[in-house]
Amino acid sequence: MSIAINLQKIKSVIPEQVTLVAVSKTKPIPDIMEAYTAGQRVFGENKIQEMVDKYDQMPKDIQWHMIGHLQRNKVKYMAHFVDLIHGVDSFKTLKEINKQALKNNRIINCLLQVKIAEEETKFGLEEIELEEIFNSNEFQELQNVNISGLMGMASFTSATEQVVQEFSSLKVLFEKLKNQHSTLSILSMGMSGDYKIAIAQGSTMIRVGSAIFGSRQ
Ligand SMILES: *Cc1c(COP(=O)(O)O)cnc(C)c1O
Repeated sequence: MSIAINLQKIKSVIPEQVTLVAVSKTKPIPDIMEAYTAGQRVFGENKIQEMVDKYDQMPKDIQWHMIGHLQRNKVKYMAHFVDLIHGVDSFKTLKEINKQALKNNRIINCLLQVKIAEEETKFGLEEIELEEIFNSNEFQELQNVNISGLMGMASFTSATEQVVQEFSSLKVLFEKLKNQHSTLSILSMGMSGDYKIAIAQGSTMIRVGSAIFGSRQ
């Protein structure tokens, strides 16, 4: 099936207020161009260098989201254009993003990644660490980052109940923090295999790759 048709199918089943991030990692420019021609303007990549290369080659009205684990020494390469960074999982990284945003005279939108899955391999902050960040004096001084919301990845499992439970716990945490911090508006959760569950649990932004572009190598 074509990329345009896949996009259309997904858009027809998600609520209008949910943002669809088309995850184009590993996919070539012609594939991304097909999605662009079909009207898609928000794309997600998980490697900074790959995103920079694609940014250079693609039309400039695209919003590029960095969804992968961040290498701090590479933040500077995307600071002039990245629209939203999903995977911020340490205060050190947030400080580096702030520093590079300042150099570019920008305010960069960030999501704090929360660990909701059981798997040890998945990154993310614990609730206590989130609160430490929000409550620290140092955080108040970061003028060039905006914490727009939270991001999480559920366990890779066919046990639907567990996925529901993990997304729902993130939604509860999101609502709690949103009451205290007015900048929070985005809850990024849901991928090809679980975006319908995520939306039912309150997701406002889904990151979908293979269901649009086909499976990756
Ligand atoms: C690759 C990736 C996705 C998309 O995964 P699919 O299963 O192909 O939809 C979403 N979020 C993150 C963080 C990813 O790395």
